Amino acid sequence: MDNLITISYFAIFATVLYETVLVFRKMRIRTHFYLFMNCMGMLICNLAVLIMQFCTTDELYFYALLYSWLGKVWVIIATLYFVVNLCKYKVPQFVTVIESIISVSMLIVIITTRKTGLFYANYDVEFVDGMALFNYTKGPFYISWLINVNILVFTCIFVLVNSMAGEKSKRKVNQYKMIMVALISESLVGVLCVLPIGRYYDFNQIGFLICAIIIIVATFKNNLFDIETATKDYIVDDLSSGVVALDKYGDIAYYNRMIEKVFPFIEASPQDAIDHIHWLIERNQLLNVENKSYRFEEKQFEDERFRDMTIFAMTDVTAYYNHLKDMEKQKEIADEANKLKSFFLASMSHEIRTPINTVLGMDEMILLENKDPEINQYAKRIQSAGKTLLGIINDILDFSKIEAGKIEIVPVKYDVLELINDLVSNTQSLANDKGLSFEVDIDSHIPRYLIGDETRIKQCITNLLTNAIKYTEKGKVCLTIGYSKDASPDSVCLSVSVKDTGIGIKHEDMDKLFTAFDRLDVVRNRSIKGTGLGLAITKQYVDKMGSELCVESEYNKGSTFSFLLRQLVGGWEQIGEYKFDGNVYDDNKTDKYSVETFYAPAATVLVVDDTENNLFVFESLLKKTGLNIETAASAKQMLKMVTERKYDIIYLDHMMPEMDGIEALHAMEKVSGNMNMTTPVIALTANAIYGSRDFYLGEGFSDYMSKPVSYATLKASLEKYLPPEKKSHAEPIEVYNSNDEIVVISDELAAYEGRGIDVKTGIENSGSGVILLKVLKDFRESVEETANTIERELKKREMKNYTVHVHALKSSARLIGAMRLSAMALNLENIGNEYLNAVKENNTAKSDELLADIEEFTPGLLTYLRSFKELLDVGEDEESESTAEALPKISHEDLDEMLAAMKEFAQAFDMDNVDAVMETIVTYSIPDDKKSLIEELKKAVRNIDYDLIISLLSGV
Ligand code: ADP
Repeated sequence: MDNLITISYFAIFATVLYETVLVFRKMRIRTHFYLFMNCMGMLICNLAVLIMQFCTTDELYFYALLYSWLGKVWVIIATLYFVVNLCKYKVPQFVTVIESIISVSMLIVIITTRKTGLFYANYDVEFVDGMALFNYTKGPFYISWLINVNILVFTCIFVLVNSMAGEKSKRKVNQYKMIMVALISESLVGVLCVLPIGRYYDFNQIGFLICAIIIIVATFKNNLFDIETATKDYIVDDLSSGVVALDKYGDIAYYNRMIEKVFPFIEASPQDAIDHIHWLIERNQLLNVENKSYRFEEKQFEDERFRDMTIFAMTDVTAYYNHLKDMEKQKEIADEANKLKSFFLASMSHEIRTPINTVLGMDEMILLENKDPEINQYAKRIQSAGKTLLGIINDILDFSKIEAGKIEIVPVKYDVLELINDLVSNTQSLANDKGLSFEVDIDSHIPRYLIGDETRIKQCITNLLTNAIKYTEKGKVCLTIGYSKDASPDSVCLSVSVKDTGIGIKHEDMDKLFTAFDRLDVVRNRSIKGTGLGLAITKQYVDKMGSELCVESEYNKGSTFSFLLRQLVGGWEQIGEYKFDGNVYDDNKTDKYSVETFYAPAATVLVVDDTENNLFVFESLLKKTGLNIETAASAKQMLKMVTERKYDIIYLDHMMPEMDGIEALHAMEKVSGNMNMTTPVIALTANAIYGSRDFYLGEGFSDYMSKPVSYATLKASLEKYLPPEKKSHAEPIEVYNSNDEIVVISDELAAYEGRGIDVKTGIENSGSGVILLKVLKDFRESVEETANTIERELKKREMKNYTVHVHALKSSARLIGAMRLSAMALNLENIGNEYLNAVKENNTAKSDELLADIEEFTPGLLTYLRSFKELLDVGEDEESESTAEALPKISHEDLDEMLAAMKEFAQAFDMDNVDAVMETIVTYSIPDDKKSLIEELKKAVRNIDYDLIISLLSGV
């Protein structure tokens, strides 16, 4: 019997040891861990029981017994945790705390029972045949311990029964059942301990063993350690993802630990948690908790059995979200860098283009004014190289703009004929220069007006045509534009093809054709200018317009570049048979610098540019037109000038410091007293990346002009925007003034030449041709009156007055360029002054002599003066409307101000200033209601009649 007991204890120990090792090796998840704890408890307990078998003293036995309790207490708690965890039950924290307190107290009670007798009221150890027998009387706590054990066991059974009810997996139900049997058997065995039979034998060991064996069978047989099951449990509970399952009634059926972490209130108010999850999903919002971001998704089970359930899966997207934020930051940095690059390119272009423009502008003037053919040849080379340089800068800027994604296709209605004409006129002469034939084959049925990005289309075809010409030595270049109807009724499909018989492209080079900055066949093409950007830009534009640039080429035979273009129709009228009707500027044959001169002396334009050189070029180019040019070096200055007079055209530079051209245009619209609301404003741009007509028109400009401005483009703009009455194509007379500058004289003024008038001096003295015309007419009207006055004053011997009038005649004659008359008047003015001095000095002899001189010379002066009535009669008695129109209008306020000033000068007898004011007034077109007053004033001023002037101005 004793040996049997020992063997049984050994067997139990071995079994428990095996079980512990097995569980330890397979341990993966929390449930496994609790099972392992259970096994460990039993191992400790059984080891103690084994030791007890071999104890020889009471003392040792008792210690071993205490040691066994250490295991027992632990076993029962571990079992509870194992079961609860297996069934995914949540143990309230207070239960854990109470259970821990009970266990610890129990251990203390057991350890101290020797003294207290609370656990074992009495005990003694009997050694029978070397076997220790433990006799004891149960203390009060022994019973409570048993009760506690049973409570825990039944709690476990309760949990298991409960879980079994909702469990659909057979495997799990089996598992639960077996564990239940194990627990019940343990509990039954516990009862044995209370019976007398338990006095000598600790049935707890057997109970534990049975329990352990059944649990192990249950777990292993039912795959508790199955890796898939374990992994599922593990993922669900321990990964950073969360899961919430709702049953068919929409109530929470399950959630894992992660969910509990983000919604700590889920236990107390599950509906709030569900609502919150719905809210997040509907708004596609992330849930942010403790620096982490979670995304919720609703999932439906594929499996029929779970169709009614809803699963919310929560994924930790913190890394992804941070990555996105990081990318956004990187994008911002990149955008900023790109902006800086664009800014740098724009400013660089401005900086480079400004001096090139000056060079080209000055060169244009050499071509305009120089007559030496050799120098003209040099100047033409400067033009050509300068324009190539500008082209390269434009290409680089275009490309950088494409790279920055800033290219937009702007569809506008355009005239197909105009487009083709421009293409041909831009390229035909290049082909002709190389001796190539240039063929144009245009389908006559193409609708005349299409809607598309005319500028880009022109740029693409021009690139292809210039390449074809550049890379063709002999033969021909052919531009074909075909047409077909499109599927959509309001659009058509154009097929553009540029074919040449040039050097062609090697098959192996085809791949590199559209790569920026890549030039092919470098050795062969080394003498051909290019950057390798043209095709890259063209391809990008064609792509942007929804098409594809195709190329077919045979080395040494030629190439064909083509693309299809879908365009909306703006007008169905057909273009008809195409015939080129434009001007081709062929610098070698027809010299564009000798094109018909344009003449508009009545017009006044304002040029606004911050670069003095540009203003100079502008003025120099326009000098021949006889235009009145006013300049402003800043937008601020311009804003003041537009309130002072009406201009016929304003040329406004785009890139200016402080306030640029666009801002200036908008500011001008708001300036009070702006007299140029309706004046055409033309943008001047040096910057190719802004160089789109539509852009400037969109901003409110009438047109734009690319710098460097050439005489031809300037003339074209004057032709287009000047009022018709202010322009003339009459061949002007060119003369040089005293500063060796060309002065242009109109037909009208030229008529006065040789009639006692030196027109160029007149223009110089009066300020402009228009003013001269005006003062000439005034002078003619005043001739008789002036002569009579001088005659009368001499007769009355009013020599002071006489001298003043002769002085006035000297000035007015000089103003109109009547230099001889002026000289005669000057002579008499000097004699008059000398006479007055002699009278003052009472030098009668001298005064008499001088008076005699005056009397001798005055009739000659008067006769000559009176002859001006005839001389200045050029057949246009009435002041021509156009001349009056040509003068700027003056407002009533400004005129009143001038008249008030004149009145003050008259009251102070300051005739010079009265004259000066009158001279200013006559340069304006006078309001109708003041015309008669001004006419009378003119006469009074001529007669130096202070009283009359003052009385005429009394109302001012
Ligand atoms: P590039 O400024 O050098 O002309 P492109 O981008 O326009 O730059 O063209 C790239 C290269 O493609 C050229 O250097 C040339 O070698 C080749 N190429 C372009 N067009 C033709 C053509 N019509 N015939 C032969 N080669 C061409």
